Amino acid sequence: MRTLLEIYLSWGIRKENGCLEWPWSKDKQGYGKIYYKKKVRSIHRVIAHIVYNLDLDNPKIKALHKCDNPPCFEPSHIKVGTQSLNMFQAHLRGKREHWKNTPKNSKGRFTKNGN
Ligand SMILES: [Zn+2]
Repeated sequence: MRTLLEIYLSWGIRKENGCLEWPWSKDKQGYGKIYYKKKVRSIHRVIAHIVYNLDLDNPKIKALHKCDNPPCFEPSHIKVGTQSLNMFQAHLRGKREHWKNTPKNSKGRFTKNGN
């Protein structure tokens, strides 16, 4: 017998980049929608609930896409986090961009502490 997760995954369309896209009803943002436990919910949140034990009824806990592809519900592309964690990670990404664009000295190191 197949599990609910296997059944849901079998409904998706696998893309070349590894994403599994929800081809059925979607909201304006492109998130897949499914009726689950008496409510219409986002499929990627339902998957995060089944795989990662995300609390579906707590809007502060987010199911985030690593792939930035809203209709994707591939479990390995989804991670659970809070809004503030999401912002913190965006902040870190911004920092990395900053360091990439910082001029380096002749040794290829960041000029810091006078070396
Ligand atoms: Zn994806």
